[in-house]
Amino acid sequence: MRDLTSKFKVVFTGGRISDADAMTLAAYDDLPSLMHIASALRDSVHGDVISYSRKVFIPLTKLCRNSCHYCTFAHPPRPGVAAYLTRSEVLEIARAGARAGCNEALFTLGDKPELRYKSVRAELAALGHESTLSYLVEMAGLVLAETGLLPHINAGVMSEADILRLRSVSVSQGLMLESSAPRLSQRGGPHFGSPDKDPEVRLKCIAAAGVAAVPFTTGILIGIGETRAERIDALLKIRALAERYGHVQEVIIQNFRAKSGTRMSEATEPEIDDHLWTIAIARLLLGAEANVQAPPNLQPTALAHLIAAGINDWGGVSPVTADHVNPEAPWPAVEVLARDTAAAGKTLTERLAIYPAYLRRGQHWLARGLMKPTLRHADAEGYARSDTWVPGSSAALPRPRDACGSATPRIDAIIARACDGHVLSQDEIVHLLAARGNDFHAVVAAADRLRKMSVGGDVTYVVTRNINYTNVCSYRCKFCAFSKGKLSENLRGAPYDLDIAEIRRRAIEAWQRGATEVCLQGGIHPDYTGETYLKICRTIHEAVPNLHIHAFSPLEVWQGAATLGISLKDFLRHLKNAGLGSLPGTAAEILDDEVRAIICPDKITTNQWLEVMETAHAVGLRSTATIMFGHVDNPSHWARHILRIRALQTHTGGFTEFVPLPFVPMETPLYLKMAARQGPTFRESILIHAVARLALHPVIPNIQTSWVKMGREGAMACLQAGANDLGGTLMNETITRAAGAVHGQEMSPSAMTDMIVAVDRNPRQRTTLYGTPPTTQTIASFEAAPLAPVVNSPARRFERRAIHEGAN
Ligand code: SF4
Repeated sequence: MRDLTSKFKVVFTGGRISDADAMTLAAYDDLPSLMHIASALRDSVHGDVISYSRKVFIPLTKLCRNSCHYCTFAHPPRPGVAAYLTRSEVLEIARAGARAGCNEALFTLGDKPELRYKSVRAELAALGHESTLSYLVEMAGLVLAETGLLPHINAGVMSEADILRLRSVSVSQGLMLESSAPRLSQRGGPHFGSPDKDPEVRLKCIAAAGVAAVPFTTGILIGIGETRAERIDALLKIRALAERYGHVQEVIIQNFRAKSGTRMSEATEPEIDDHLWTIAIARLLLGAEANVQAPPNLQPTALAHLIAAGINDWGGVSPVTADHVNPEAPWPAVEVLARDTAAAGKTLTERLAIYPAYLRRGQHWLARGLMKPTLRHADAEGYARSDTWVPGSSAALPRPRDACGSATPRIDAIIARACDGHVLSQDEIVHLLAARGNDFHAVVAAADRLRKMSVGGDVTYVVTRNINYTNVCSYRCKFCAFSKGKLSENLRGAPYDLDIAEIRRRAIEAWQRGATEVCLQGGIHPDYTGETYLKICRTIHEAVPNLHIHAFSPLEVWQGAATLGISLKDFLRHLKNAGLGSLPGTAAEILDDEVRAIICPDKITTNQWLEVMETAHAVGLRSTATIMFGHVDNPSHWARHILRIRALQTHTGGFTEFVPLPFVPMETPLYLKMAARQGPTFRESILIHAVARLALHPVIPNIQTSWVKMGREGAMACLQAGANDLGGTLMNETITRAAGAVHGQEMSPSAMTDMIVAVDRNPRQRTTLYGTPPTTQTIASFEAAPLAPVVNSPARRFERRAIHEGAN
């Protein structure tokens, strides 16, 4: 026993149990100890997540050239019954799945029936195909193109060429090894008469999938006559292939079920303890990272035990189609599965047919062209999107799920450290950002409590006017739908370049409407120099001396200094003398050059952005800090961004607030032309406000939510998740609207008040720097006349000239 315990320990430090030691486990039957170690090992990587895939099952053909003695799926040709689903039948099933919210189209079918049945060859010819796999390629492609569902293929034994063809229309494939014992294929065995069940043939196929870089599902079937030693042998053979190719994304431990009408209808089914033993052994042999699965419909009364034995996945569950392989065992309703999973202390989390770790390296694991449709379904961690909400859209908010238990000890510990003001590590912040289920509720509740403790019950907003002086820009940020260059001239409205008189008029009108601030940002017009920005400041300051000028992102500041050939410090001093009051913390996007290289490769770098802010703070100009998230980034990038902001704030104290800006995708080149997600999910958007509150405490007291991106109801939810500021009334929001947002260009003070009161908080108008505005301005803001029409003078020239090259 002591020997075995020490052998187990090695797996907790990334080691592996040797093949020889593994075989000795066949005699080890201390099930409670095995399960304890296996579940602890699973938890060390998968935490409280138990995943499943919401799928629709498409049995393209139930004919098969094999005759496994336990199978009810396959049957011989029947007169008058078509061997294959037709194209319209396939699409009908897939569309029903899409309507039911499925992400996966599972194609499971018999193994090459045309090799056994002449009539099938004739049917295939009528469909225009020579083989089942050729028809399958067409059908999987059809489903992907017409419904967006992601195909997973279970088509039996395939050659490497078959696998490669199917790779172009699927995100994953699978083949159960079932057993590595050749004796099961001998006369009297369950695989007698099934040439494709030869273990060598199946192992060759699994290896071929590895060569083809296909995320692959395999597993073993227990209770068909194999010994425990043979199960371990099968798991070791799977492990060897997984280690060689890295492609085995999940291993199913499936229990044999005796089905009436089969030759094994009277065979004894494996005991639950035997199933649990095998799951625990699989976890120990395959390691903490492995995805170990047991189908919930085959052990419906033992779900908590399966979890306790070390699984982390339930496999595919369909809300619309039966399990055609086990028709006697209906899938549990997802709600029931979620409830039972929660009762076992875990959080049911929907995944895609390709697991998160494989999607993160999608350029390697997916065929060209599959990344874009796959990311449409994905959240920031690579799981399935948990809701259909899209930032900036009018989509309904997801119904919040109530907490139904306590948070995990690790989340509680991180929250406690954050509330004490400690600097969290990147790992800790990522862990907060990955919170689901009870952990999610705990993070949000803690952020709300911390908000109340640190800034009280006020919710602030500023009466401000956005003035975007030009939409002509020489940069090519891929998330931007606002800028106009020569190529995009005809795409999104006309290029404009405001006359200075119009800027002055808008500023005066803003003051008359009760504003205390104007916020100025625009494209990087090729004719603009630092003098342009100075002139804008002087003009507004002379016209309305008490109006706070909140203007120029670090990119514009960098550009202005570069075009005048002076230092950042000198340029910022000149701006301040010209009337500039503070800087917006935009152009930050994600402060991580790995992400910037994709979404804004010609923009200033992370360090340049931080340098501008540090210099601005040093000359007495305060600023905000933003994060624009939910595209090609992930929680590690968000955590690094937050930590960089915190580090600078600790040094300068110059940031007034932190502003999460969910990526609004609809009209952006990044979403339309490239592989990007459709913004963060609602859960992620709420969570980042909460995590910002926790991770930036106590150095940044104000967390702002953007009603333009979140919408009215979404912003209200953020106010209950750590945020205490609603940003500005804006008057002329145009940048997010250009990206497809529908939440309007202005939020009046009355509407702001209504939102704040609705969440039982105190509305308070503020100045840019969180002071109290003059009473006359506040009164004027509530009595503001409608805006006069704006005059957007056409740009005289708008070519994207690379004048900024020297700026980088
Ligand atoms: Fe230009 Fe700014 Fe748009 Fe980038 S985000 S393209 S710099 S307007």
